[in-house]
Amino acid sequence: MRRLLVLLGSLALAGCIPAAQDHHPPVYRRPAPPPPAPPPHHAVGAHPNADVRQCEADLSRAGAMFTPLQDQRFSASCSAFGAVQMSLVAPGIAITNTKALTCETALPLTRWVEGPVQAAAQRWFGVRVSRVESMGTYSCRNVIGNAASASKLSEHAHANAVDIGGFVLADGRRVTVLSGWHGADDEAGFLHEVHDAACRNFITVLSPDYNAAHANHLHFDMGGSSFCR
Ligand SMILES: [Zn+2]
Repeated sequence: MRRLLVLLGSLALAGCIPAAQDHHPPVYRRPAPPPPAPPPHHAVGAHPNADVRQCEADLSRAGAMFTPLQDQRFSASCSAFGAVQMSLVAPGIAITNTKALTCETALPLTRWVEGPVQAAAQRWFGVRVSRVESMGTYSCRNVIGNAASASKLSEHAHANAVDIGGFVLADGRRVTVLSGWHGADDEAGFLHEVHDAACRNFITVLSPDYNAAHANHLHFDMGGSSFCR
């Protein structure tokens, strides 16, 4: 017995008997999920269509930050051709909740924000806008809130439209279409002024004055014929 203990002791010293903690089962760590794949995109100026290339160059020059997306057809009726994914709508101004938006629509959006929106924010609030809150760009759906055109495909289904729900000012104040359109004098004044200006930037502009479906946002698109309400 004593010999056996001595033998075991020397085996342990020699490392032949594994230490107790080595008997714990190995800990498996779940591998981190891969980051979501970016949408197929290309370099600025690499789109096959010359008008889109020119638009991307103009959008870049206007100070927007964006990723040009490859043309995509999502279904028989829904597509995004010549679209971009915006991160900054204008220099230093983020835009939230956007997916594909045609460059043709993104460019007047950038010019609207950098021009009349900033001017109106300075005039009504004495500060600049620091963030634009979108309520969506591309969406494969029909027109909503209008029985006469409910079976008509929305311009959103071609990434040709953007909905703007509100703005965050440099001092942190948030101005939304839902509460401001009929709200305090400065918020209503600001929102009506930027709405009226948008009618010079976009082909179609819809506001809470159009119908109840637009009570919480301004809709801008570059399709159809000129309409501003
Ligand atoms: Zn819309």
